[in-house]
Amino acid sequence: MGCLGGGKAGARAVRPVGKAMALAALLLLTISGAALPKPSPAPKVTSVRLYVFDCGTLVYNRPEDYNLKREEVRDTNMGVTCYLVVHPKGVLLYDTGLNDRLVGRPLYENVLDGYGQIKFNTLSGQLADIGVTPARIDYLVLSHYHWDHVGNAGKFASSTWLVYKGDRDQMFSNAARAYPWFNQYAALEHSKTQLLSGDYDVFGDGTVVVLATPGHTEGHCSLLVRLRNTGPVVLSGDLYHYAEERDLNRMPDEEKTTGTAESRLKIEELLRRVKGQLWIGHSMEFFRTVRKSPAWYD
Ligand SMILES: [Zn+2]
Repeated sequence: MGCLGGGKAGARAVRPVGKAMALAALLLLTISGAALPKPSPAPKVTSVRLYVFDCGTLVYNRPEDYNLKREEVRDTNMGVTCYLVVHPKGVLLYDTGLNDRLVGRPLYENVLDGYGQIKFNTLSGQLADIGVTPARIDYLVLSHYHWDHVGNAGKFASSTWLVYKGDRDQMFSNAARAYPWFNQYAALEHSKTQLLSGDYDVFGDGTVVVLATPGHTEGHCSLLVRLRNTGPVVLSGDLYHYAEERDLNRMPDEEKTTGTAESRLKIEELLRRVKGQLWIGHSMEFFRTVRKSPAWYD
């Protein structure tokens, strides 16, 4: 999503589970002898593997904000994707999506900046399904600081946060501290933090590279992942929102002078050079068709 204005908080209080109910559940388990299913062991890999998570959906109908007419866009809603890169030398999470506490809540409760937020799956649950706890994640990369990308970021404060100074400064500015979603990432302030400048080859072998793509925000970044069978993939972050922006060469007015055009040229040139694919995380067509975790790309 684009703007970062006011709006209501997405977060809510969680209803406490009654003690009696918890006891009843425990008794039921004891009586039936059923055991809680164990998560499968964390994946061990010999080459890079990429998981895609469903991190929510934004209900939105103003493509004009992205300089597109309604009839030029097949689907104005936006998917919200998060990605886990499992490399033989470590695990990296790219983006954290909408806050997990939105799961099961009605749309009317959670409209922020004109974007309705819907969530069917938690990020933590999808990670647990493949045996990954937050403690297993070595590196956290956020494409940028907008609320649809940082909703669960605070849970990964034990990871090393790879970030550009412009975005980090913005996230911990006095203005940002007043945003209702500040507490969703506040814990990162004390994370082990590595400030990046330019592109950054995370594991030193060229397979996972953070790409500086400023414009949407000052510290916006994309991620190149070189996969053995799938080939090179660039995760766009919000370099594009709708696939039609790429086809029709459009961008929001406010990004015309902030570097988005240059960043797009850089990525298109890279894609041509490495013969790679661009994955536009907010594109509904992509969101619908991409293979999601627990399946993976390698
Ligand atoms: Zn976004």
